[in-house]
Amino acid sequence: MTLSGVARVAFVGSRRIFASHLPSMQSYTPAFSRQMSVGMKSVTDRLRDSGLLRTQGLIGGKWIDAYDGKTLEVHNPATGEVIANVSCMGGKETKDAISSAFDAFNSWSKLTAAERSKGLRKWYDLLMAHKEELGQLITLEQGKPLKEAVGEVDYGAKFIEFYAEEAKRVYGEIIPATLPDRRLFVLKQPVGVAGAITPWNFPLAMITRKVGPALACGCTVVVKPSEFTPLTALAAAELALQAGIPPGVVNVVMGNAPDIGDALLTSPQVRKITFTGSTAVGKKLMAGAAGTVKKVCRVSLELGGNAPCIVFDDADLNVAVNGA
Ligand code: ADP
Repeated sequence: MTLSGVARVAFVGSRRIFASHLPSMQSYTPAFSRQMSVGMKSVTDRLRDSGLLRTQGLIGGKWIDAYDGKTLEVHNPATGEVIANVSCMGGKETKDAISSAFDAFNSWSKLTAAERSKGLRKWYDLLMAHKEELGQLITLEQGKPLKEAVGEVDYGAKFIEFYAEEAKRVYGEIIPATLPDRRLFVLKQPVGVAGAITPWNFPLAMITRKVGPALACGCTVVVKPSEFTPLTALAAAELALQAGIPPGVVNVVMGNAPDIGDALLTSPQVRKITFTGSTAVGKKLMAGAAGTVKKVCRVSLELGGNAPCIVFDDADLNVAVNGA
């Protein structure tokens, strides 16, 4: 993964547009570290008070522990401190999340785009209303500076707003027929349950960018955020519930990535996989999706490397820092 060594400094790749982690804990003086801890406590307290610090998975509208009770630690990359212990889920929980999404698809897909748009608009409003808290949460678990993190909330929320509007304009097409007694037309329909697997560098925006269009056209989703940054995903899902998006439309599971991935790939109920992450994992997902013949157009992969920024001894440091 990307949380060690030189890659921790900065990423400027095609996929990772820009995401920087703070330097490792050793770079801070003990006093600064203490300051961060005190700050972290009050931030987490505030998030807890506002109901946005969720640590369980979301299945069928219910917050659920891993079935075997396992948890995993989420760390603040700036200090190494544990922010929270979240449910460490696997294949069983994912299968249940898929079933919930499949059930919810029946009713969600039958709403008009305008009706779905109302829920999405409300979700957008809530994301924006909680911009500061969500930004703090992103900084806490992902490590990017607060200004960038708050900027990500803006950027990420806008996907929900955009698709809420755009889904009303999913027009069909009439195709000139080759035979005189035929009429050909294209009708666009939601495919069903979509599995969305997202990376750590944009913990909110990579989710809203996948979930926004899916929900807008009538699909339901099972989201698997990165185990490094699940808290933002869970907070966003909490706000989706508060926005009145029906139970089961958005589900979130995190924990054992290969097990969760396998459950999504092998389920015939999952009709679409959307993934942003490494090329190596993307290749595995594409191969796995072939097993249930998920159509090529139903596997969307945004892949890239970690694009480390290496600064050599003789480099002009000011230029390097600006470039990074
Ligand atoms: P990055 O370097 O951006 O973290 P990864 O490909 O390692 O990229 O991770 C992106 C997402 O893919 C994360 O949510 C991670 O947990 C998930 N992931 C990793 N391995 C698998 C797998 N075998 N099946 C499904 N998801 C996986």
